[in-house]
Amino acid sequence: MKIGVIGTGYVGMVTAVCLSDLGHDVIGTDIDKEKIDKASQGSCHIYEPGLEELLKKNLKNGTLSFSHALEDTIQASDVLFVCVNTPQREDGSADMCYVESTSRSIAENLNKYKLVVEKSTVPVQTSMWIKRTISLYKKGNGEFDVASNPEFLREGTAVSDFMHPDRVIIGVETKKAEEMLVKIYKKFKDKVLVTNIDTAELIKHASNSFLAMKISFINLISDLCERTDADVELVAKGMGLDPRIGKRFLRAGLGYGGSCFPKDVRALIKIGEDLGADLSLLKEVDRINTDRIQSFLGKIKKALWIVKDKKIAVLGLAFKPETDDTRNAPSINLIKELQSQEALLRLYDPKAMDNMRIHFPEDPPKIIYTQNLLDAVKEANALLIVTEWDEFKDLNLRKIKDMMANPILIDGRNVFDPDEVRSLGFEYYSIGRK
Ligand code: NAD
Repeated sequence: MKIGVIGTGYVGMVTAVCLSDLGHDVIGTDIDKEKIDKASQGSCHIYEPGLEELLKKNLKNGTLSFSHALEDTIQASDVLFVCVNTPQREDGSADMCYVESTSRSIAENLNKYKLVVEKSTVPVQTSMWIKRTISLYKKGNGEFDVASNPEFLREGTAVSDFMHPDRVIIGVETKKAEEMLVKIYKKFKDKVLVTNIDTAELIKHASNSFLAMKISFINLISDLCERTDADVELVAKGMGLDPRIGKRFLRAGLGYGGSCFPKDVRALIKIGEDLGADLSLLKEVDRINTDRIQSFLGKIKKALWIVKDKKIAVLGLAFKPETDDTRNAPSINLIKELQSQEALLRLYDPKAMDNMRIHFPEDPPKIIYTQNLLDAVKEANALLIVTEWDEFKDLNLRKIKDMMANPILIDGRNVFDPDEVRSLGFEYYSIGRK
């Protein structure tokens, strides 16, 4: 089986590289020529631990290649993994125009049987639209099946997640499609769950919305902790010891971001509205998350009173550690607000500064990207922790304190121990604890 991967972004690149590493013959394509040029030369356009090494290895092995030509990729492939973006539209729904255009390209190049696999996160019942589109536009008599195989990788640990999955969901409506996908994933056969297509599509949106709900839930509880003597870290620990709840995704902080949770929660709300199902619980999840930045700004105001002309070091721009992805990062709305209040921002992130420059170009003295962490904190009136990179957890706080104009630390990720930080002379604010 020749596998074609359409769209070599975060998901597509990992999918192409990892499927080839599993021994399959894979070709990746993308409308973005630069990504394909780089990938063909063994260079990744994204930062993802371990990915570039595997890319180089499999290019060399000859099991992986890249092509600008979508038509050639489609015609050469037996299975097509559709990994294009499904961004959020104004009304919250997922924008399916890239999936639709890919479906039309597949229709126009249907030279033989193809299994079209939705890997992108799509609304339930999308397969029906893909089938209709391919049938409407197809030239010739090529047969096809559509299947759903949602992706659960997390940026930052994407390669490991792909290679050691908790589950491989396969949504199919024919035996042939099932057999082909089971064969592709034979290394993970114990992890495979076969369902119908609607179920597989919904598993992805339901999973992301549930995880987002856990994060919003603990953030809600953190508000209560701040009004009492309770400590949200210990509340979360105590809750998480119950295996029915589990300790993961119970980290209070600045809320969830990234290219998935915010858009997937909103997409599911819209799907509910369209299908007449009341998913208003998820509206609250979204609202609580959006409010996090205002609540954090409240802490900044409490510490600085007036933000105008204050030097503020912002550590962490990526939406989470170990990625350069800034899509829907909480840092974006935070910086927007601080910018509107005329703060002098010193921004630092180990990997995401280039991506953040697209949102906020360098504009001294209002916005300065610093070479390193220490340059950001030098003479700062306050230091904000926005993403919990290990580099920040290991800060030499004594040194930092001496470098700052005012030793004020506002920790949006509860990275530090309050007693320890205060004993060093910092004024310290964190989330959901005194
Ligand atoms: P991305 O924007 O990084 O990549 C999408 C790629 O598709 C881009 O490179 C784009 O140029 C390409 N593309 C668009 N239209 C095309 C076309 N017609 N032909 C060829 N290429 C085309 O997005 P992503 O983060 O990889 O996400 C892709 C999908 O996977 C989304 O639905 C997303 O929700 C889902 N997903 C993402 C993650 C994640 O962590 N990023 C995890 C699981 C699922």
